[in-house]
Amino acid sequence: GDGGRDSQEYLFKIVIVGDSAVGKSNLLSRYARGEFDLHSKATVGVDFQTQCLEIDGKEVKAQIWDTAGQERFRAVTSAYYRGAFGALIVYDISRRSTFDSVSRWLDELNSHSDTTVAKMLVGNKRDLEEIRDVSVEEGKNLAEAEGLFFIETSAFDSTNVHKAFEIVIREIYDNVS
Ligand code: GDP
Ligand code: MG
Repeated sequence: GDGGRDSQEYLFKIVIVGDSAVGKSNLLSRYARGEFDLHSKATVGVDFQTQCLEIDGKEVKAQIWDTAGQERFRAVTSAYYRGAFGALIVYDISRRSTFDSVSRWLDELNSHSDTTVAKMLVGNKRDLEEIRDVSVEEGKNLAEAEGLFFIETSAFDSTNVHKAFEIVIREIYDNVS
């Protein structure tokens, strides 16, 4: 509870991790601005975007961080993870190698966090069904084994993008309130 302080605001930092080109920047731009870029460059990106929403009548601000391409150099810094209460670990359902990297991203995330982090495993590019390389079942099984939420999304056609972020934000809220 908040002790009756109705005006209390919440600020939650959320990080997005995953291999290069899985769609991290587009998931964020789709969620925060409703935009998708077919030719997005790995180096183009913002540090973070802030989204405001209301949960149980409380104002919640989600500050969502994007790697801005650092992951290509395996140089995602500890500052990136610092203070994060939530994380989206993203792979591309049409590229198995990006799914194989999930455990490495989880290890990195866990080694940098000293608090409970709400984690969502995200299989992105669900619109590419005809060249799918990772089954829904495999995603589900990995998430279950690692204690993560699981969802498949498409930043291209917007499927489940809001849902992915909002489940994480809700879980953080439930963890802290
Ligand atoms: P990042 O390196 O993880 O930030 O990936 P980007 O967001 O830059 O996306 C990499 C490429 O994948 C770009 O060409 C995007 O247009 C494309 N992309 C991102 N999300 C999707 C998606 O859901 N479906 C499809 N078909 N392409 C996507
Ligand atoms: Mg990016």
